[in-house]
Amino acid sequence: MKVYTFSKRFLLTFLIFSLLILIFPVDSDCQIRVRTEPKIPDIPGYITMKCDFHIHTVFSDGDVWPPIRPQEAWIEGLDAFSITDHIEYQPHQNDIPTNFNRSYELTLRDAEASGLMIIRGAEITRGEPPGHLNTIFLKDPNPLDTEDYNDAVKAAVEQGAFVFWNHPGWRGQQPEGISIWYPEHTELYEKGWMHGIEIVNERDYYPLAHKWCLEKNLTMLGNSDIHDPVNMVYDFNSGEHRPMTLVLVKEKTEEALKEALFARRTIVYHENTLIGEEKYLKPIFNESVEISNSDVTIRGRSRVYIQISNNSDISFELTVDGEVEDISVPENITLYADKTVLFQIRGKSGRLSGRKNIHIPYKVKNLLIAPEEGLPVELIINVDFIPIKKK
Ligand code: ZN
Repeated sequence: MKVYTFSKRFLLTFLIFSLLILIFPVDSDCQIRVRTEPKIPDIPGYITMKCDFHIHTVFSDGDVWPPIRPQEAWIEGLDAFSITDHIEYQPHQNDIPTNFNRSYELTLRDAEASGLMIIRGAEITRGEPPGHLNTIFLKDPNPLDTEDYNDAVKAAVEQGAFVFWNHPGWRGQQPEGISIWYPEHTELYEKGWMHGIEIVNERDYYPLAHKWCLEKNLTMLGNSDIHDPVNMVYDFNSGEHRPMTLVLVKEKTEEALKEALFARRTIVYHENTLIGEEKYLKPIFNESVEISNSDVTIRGRSRVYIQISNNSDISFELTVDGEVEDISVPENITLYADKTVLFQIRGKSGRLSGRKNIHIPYKVKNLLIAPEEGLPVELIINVDFIPIKKK
């Protein structure tokens, strides 16, 4: 029978190892988080930053402690965000003292640790008009705490802030849900004190505000205005996401982000819709969609299949927009997100002959260049027609 004994050396090693574990315990509490970045491509010359510039914490009327916000933002694949607690509305102040810089300060460490950009902001909160105005890229929100809203906006503008009108059709202030542009807004606009408007806030889209942005050259924004934990409002499992402002930047710096916002290079990402200027939506579509076999041969009136893939997170809903000569094409087709579809075409006549470049005009219903106006696009295919010989 063998007798196992421990050497002194083994016992010493064991003792030291046990001591080390006691001094430096292994953190069994380490949590794993997974980041899912929205698949919306960069476009030539610009990086597409995913941003949310309207977020609340317990330092105004939100239900969330500030450092949770960058963790949520990281999980949802954002690049930049702004905490914009209300200046004039502090319902938790009996428990949490009013301190306009505190939510930013408490957020900063986690934001920076996870590589997110945090922009210092605040929300001027008045009745309509002028309603609620977000001010971001502030140096200090304290001077915004004044009686006259004009003085508050002026204080923000003097700090170089970007100012935008929040949720102009919010039912809390406009019971019909219809945005109203008041003379007070003209005054702010003419002074150069209003740089953009939220055309999407939480789940609401305001077509009138969209129209004003186009007419008056104002920046379009879409933000969450989140007060709850974000996953209590959006069901990620069913593919929901918070609304985002996509900002087309020359580089990923705070300066470049600010430059792009003032230059109106934004796209609003709302549910399965993108809203923006044609010159930005077109390259987004072109960078996302690829036709793998655009050279085809059609014999007589035969049917051929074209493979079109879409590597973005948006399912593009196309509807035909004009006459197509020589071939029949689907009236409506959805290019599903992150999928490839078979696009069926057919010769209209058996007698066509020779090579032809065919431009098929479509409108993308959920890429909005104006209220109810989809982005015009063309699918271009090269067809070699071979006529059928009569027997
Ligand atoms: Zn708000």
